[in-house]
Amino acid sequence: MTWYSVRMRAAEGGPHEQGGAHISGGERIVGEEEIEVMVQRLLRRAMTHEKGRPDFINLTVERVPDEGIGSLTALPIRTRPVADLTEGRAVAVELLEACGIDSRIAQYAVDLIAGGPAPDGGAMRGAIVLDADTGERLETDPARGVRISKIDWAPDALAAWREQVAANGLANERIAEAVALATKVTSTPGTVAELCWSDDPGYVAGYVASQRLGYVRIPYLKPLGSPLGGRVYLVRGVRDAAAYERELQVPALVQAIPPQPYLNEEGELSKR
Ligand code: AMP
Repeated sequence: MTWYSVRMRAAEGGPHEQGGAHISGGERIVGEEEIEVMVQRLLRRAMTHEKGRPDFINLTVERVPDEGIGSLTALPIRTRPVADLTEGRAVAVELLEACGIDSRIAQYAVDLIAGGPAPDGGAMRGAIVLDADTGERLETDPARGVRISKIDWAPDALAAWREQVAANGLANERIAEAVALATKVTSTPGTVAELCWSDDPGYVAGYVASQRLGYVRIPYLKPLGSPLGGRVYLVRGVRDAAAYERELQVPALVQAIPPQPYLNEEGELSKR
């Protein structure tokens, strides 16, 4: 099977590298016969995004050598119910602490996203890389951050996963994409945990993910209507963000699902 990486990034006010504001992005890996459909889907995503009308769209199609594709097992997912965003952010801090991160650094990670992590106070195109012990930001370009690319679900694994989580209302494209990204970053050496919430004004949920916790969805992490969101990768022992990003861009497919893709009980979680 020959695989192709199809990726898209869109900005308004010029290209990202010339200061354009990030509107939308996407990372997929598909077979040759799916390239056209995927290009169309990503283009439509960019052109119809609620954040605005992009005047710059970059679409890249690149063949990925089959032998170079890594195989990942999806993180299990569970939802931690919260009443509002204040509780949601407190739960995010608590979960990061459970990953061995000092509460001040965990709170700082939340504050970074909440305050608009890019230098212009808006959203970044990629993720912040934060030293989990010192709180130092390691990414060299704070407007771009680091980006995961060349990641997707293998079609069979995605179908099996969707079937398993459908009853919990989680079988949508947005969550599937986020689980794939979180699976990739948490399996990359140096990653302690990830914190994420979307910059889409209409989407208020987010998550904390780690190898030990899995993907813990938090239904409220920001006010409805806010264009501020982002990702923080909390790392330990990473000195060179560029080398870390190269690892995040090694092609990989989520080829397997865990024995229990959906965990809802605290008890199930602590047994992991
Ligand atoms: P989204 O969930 O697509 O709304 O993305 C939320 C934020 O996550 C974006 O503003 C970026 O800062 C970051 N982000 C999106 N895609 C990636 C990626 N492939 N790698 C790293 N960070 C990303």
